[in-house]
Amino acid sequence: MEKRRRGLGLFSGGLDSMLAATVLRAQGLEVTGIFFVTPFFGPEKARQSAAHLQLPLIVRDFTDKFLPLIYAPPHGFGRGHNPCIDCHLLMLREAAAMLEPEGFDFLFTGEVLGQRPMSQHRNSLNLIARDSGVPELLLRPLSAKLLAPTRPELLGWVDREKLLDLNGRSRKAQIALAAAYGITSYPAPAGGCLLTDPGYAARLKEILRHQGEVSRRDLELLKWGRHFRLPGGAKAVVGRTQRDNEALEGLITPGDRLLKVRCHPGPLVLVPGGAAAADLEVAAGLAGAYSDAPPETPVAVEVQGDGGTALIHLTTAPKTQFKEWLVGGGKGK
Ligand code: SF4
Repeated sequence: MEKRRRGLGLFSGGLDSMLAATVLRAQGLEVTGIFFVTPFFGPEKARQSAAHLQLPLIVRDFTDKFLPLIYAPPHGFGRGHNPCIDCHLLMLREAAAMLEPEGFDFLFTGEVLGQRPMSQHRNSLNLIARDSGVPELLLRPLSAKLLAPTRPELLGWVDREKLLDLNGRSRKAQIALAAAYGITSYPAPAGGCLLTDPGYAARLKEILRHQGEVSRRDLELLKWGRHFRLPGGAKAVVGRTQRDNEALEGLITPGDRLLKVRCHPGPLVLVPGGAAAADLEVAAGLAGAYSDAPPETPVAVEVQGDGGTALIHLTTAPKTQFKEWLVGGGKGK
């Protein structure tokens, strides 16, 4: 009896990856998804979509291998700070290394020819296939009929006639296919990876310009609050919501300073790694400006850190006074 072939697919949890898995499964193939975790893209969406399809999902953290790509990716960045071509290549190489040890016969992705400006042009798809190390085993079921046949098709593991010929940016065909396959729940196309988020990307670029290298904590801090680069070079992060404030508290490490206005509701202001007195004064001004105390109100700002608490007395100023130091427009997560 013919062996049932097994495909391992990059699975972001987006509709394209769901359809790619579904199209193959409809042919009787055994398919498994794999999601690679980084600080920029968590597995929640992939888990939900896999559960919806009842698809087995492998989740692997490959942050250590991915992080060098945020400095100088060989194939450059997209519109944000997203090194998509190199990220795809890395994911495919990691997945390719699992084929034999874990008993998979081929790889697949939900890539659609012409859908993404950077990574899904024909040239990019060809380059990614070639440099993945397993070009003959990399199947793109959604556009397969427009691409050269791969070994799974040539050997008859997969029926090429039942694969698709999707092309371009329109999502209409995917939405119709989802309905035809009974896929009723899938995430919106945008979002997921923070490196494509304009606010996060701007904050990351700024910190890379400022200090060259970033730590895992720096990357986490960039997800929360408004970020200010103070005149003396220190950073101040101002919580915008209760969730921001809680997240910032959870990211405190020794040497940091935490500021908060006394007697008025207001945000936490975190100064990672501390700051010289002049920058701490500015950070205290931020705590006052973003508190509920009206402008021109005398306030006391608590400065906590390294086991002690100090007080800075000031008169609150309007937020606009701090605008020139705001990084990345203060949007984002
Ligand atoms: S959007 Fe993010 S996770 Fe997706 S390929 Fe690009 S860099 Fe990688």
